[in-house]
Amino acid sequence: MANIAIIGSGFGGLSLAVRLQAAGHQVRIFEKREKIGGRAYQLQDAGYTFDMGPSLVTAPSIIRSIFGAADRRMEDYVDLVPLDPFYRIFFHDGTHMDYNGDPDRMKAQLAQFSPHDADRYDDFMQDMKGIYDAVITEGLGKQPFDTLGKMARFVPRALRLNALKPVASMAKSYFEDFRSHFMFSFHPLFIGGHPFRAPSIYAMIPYLEREEGVWFARGGMYAIVEALGKVFEELGGQITTSAEVDRITVTVGKATGIQIDGTHIPFDAVVSNADVTATYRRLIDPEHRKKWTDRKLDGLKQTMSCFLMYIGTKKKYPQLAHHTLILAERYKELIDEIFAHKHLPVDFSMYLHVPTATDPGMAPEGCESMYVLIPVPNLKADADWTAIKQDYADKVIDFLEAWGMEDLRSSMEVCHLFTPEEFASELNATDGNAFSLEPRLTQTAWFRPHNRSEEIGSLYIVGAGTHPGAGVPGVMLSAEATLSNILEDHPVTRGRMSIPSDTRIEVQHA
Ligand SMILES: Cc1cc2nc3c(=O)[nH]c(=O)nc-3n(C[C@H](O)[C@H](O)[C@H](O)COP(=O)(O)OP(=O)(O)OC[C@H]3O[C@@H](n4cnc5c(N)ncnc54)[C@H](O)[C@@H]3O)c2cc1C
Repeated sequence: MANIAIIGSGFGGLSLAVRLQAAGHQVRIFEKREKIGGRAYQLQDAGYTFDMGPSLVTAPSIIRSIFGAADRRMEDYVDLVPLDPFYRIFFHDGTHMDYNGDPDRMKAQLAQFSPHDADRYDDFMQDMKGIYDAVITEGLGKQPFDTLGKMARFVPRALRLNALKPVASMAKSYFEDFRSHFMFSFHPLFIGGHPFRAPSIYAMIPYLEREEGVWFARGGMYAIVEALGKVFEELGGQITTSAEVDRITVTVGKATGIQIDGTHIPFDAVVSNADVTATYRRLIDPEHRKKWTDRKLDGLKQTMSCFLMYIGTKKKYPQLAHHTLILAERYKELIDEIFAHKHLPVDFSMYLHVPTATDPGMAPEGCESMYVLIPVPNLKADADWTAIKQDYADKVIDFLEAWGMEDLRSSMEVCHLFTPEEFASELNATDGNAFSLEPRLTQTAWFRPHNRSEEIGSLYIVGAGTHPGAGVPGVMLSAEATLSNILEDHPVTRGRMSIPSDTRIEVQHA
């Protein structure tokens, strides 16, 4: 049994913690913030409950497998509710689509705009199944991509499946109407990818959604966070919150523990679930970094950021589905503007999460809890969010009122803002990224920072910055990849007990 520290309690850290503890290691999580969850944090105010980050539950089989690894049933901890539609998408011309997993209803809606696209729907889904099978069914997503040999075996298969061409080009080769093109290419945006350059590995998401559904956890995404934290503690794991790690200690090329407020706590292995760039740059002294030098880290492409408004209204907005997208006319140009870090676009494309559409318990009776998410450039754009955020929020409210959400401003009881600056300060996200490293070909699989550090023994990465990447299913798969690396290096030899560190630090418990 090894004593293992996990820095950070995002979904990746929690999933790995449960799996490692269940496998027989002794695990302790150190989390900077007051509560666990990372980007999946929860905000509560005046009877309104908000998930602050992820909202769409996809691939429940991946979540279920974590509970299974701990010999538990997910259903005993989390109540998942299927959603239909998956999304309601409003286009700039006033048309809308209720996107879901029912082929007949999808084709009927597609046919209104393009009979050709309706005819191509089945072909698209069939071809995306090939990518889904490789990544999910055959497990490429949960295997560490740490040798060139694995990459060499993967590339011919990916080429055969067309999985390396950009998602938007893939969608274009099937669909002609702008609505269908958007619907089958926008998914990379949910994990910080540019649809016109993210590889088509991500084009399988519509198939994954159709195969496994889109779900909501009653009580919000945070119910899953709490369930994983609970299982981990039931297994004997320890969680320490309000504990920011300021250093990973390394001796003769091997991680030997962590340091908090000058106190060294020894461990047999250290896993970082914190931002991968910040892990190497801020937590590990430069003399131990031959590969991840500051210069190399500067070259990593961080994703865009998000501007978020958590709004509680005493009025209901029944035109909004649980997941709603409201789109501007510009697609590629708008995303280019955001990704190129130049300036804030003047037109808005936004995503609204309205959990009260499914679970009225997320707000006082008769009220609506929602968040508005607008993709914005990360902090490389040089915007002073402290100065501009209120003005920007006012513009968003004006826009939504003009769009059809009557009396939004006057019915708001609660409104909290979260900007790229908070991504940087609250989550230690480099450049205030919202989704870690951009999922582009040159940062995919072997080219992404590895789950097992390339140069420091007993140091591992889990979460959005390593293979396979961001998104709740992605980081949960990363936990499996990292687990297999750790178990190779630290097999569980039951009976050999090392003593967990009892070093005391001033902390609050989640
Ligand atoms: C607004 C938004 C909406 C999203 N929507 C979806 C969605 O609908 N569906 C989906 O699947 N995905 C979605 N995602 C993506 C998904 O939320 C993330 O990819 C995933 O939650 C990231 O998990 P992670 O394990 O990488 O860790 P993170 O959630 O990034 O957590 C890392 C943790 O490390 C802690 N930490 C950092 N530095 C230190 C330190 N030095 N010491 C101690 N602790 C430290 C941080 O405080 C944080 O708690 C969304 C993301 C955002 C931002």
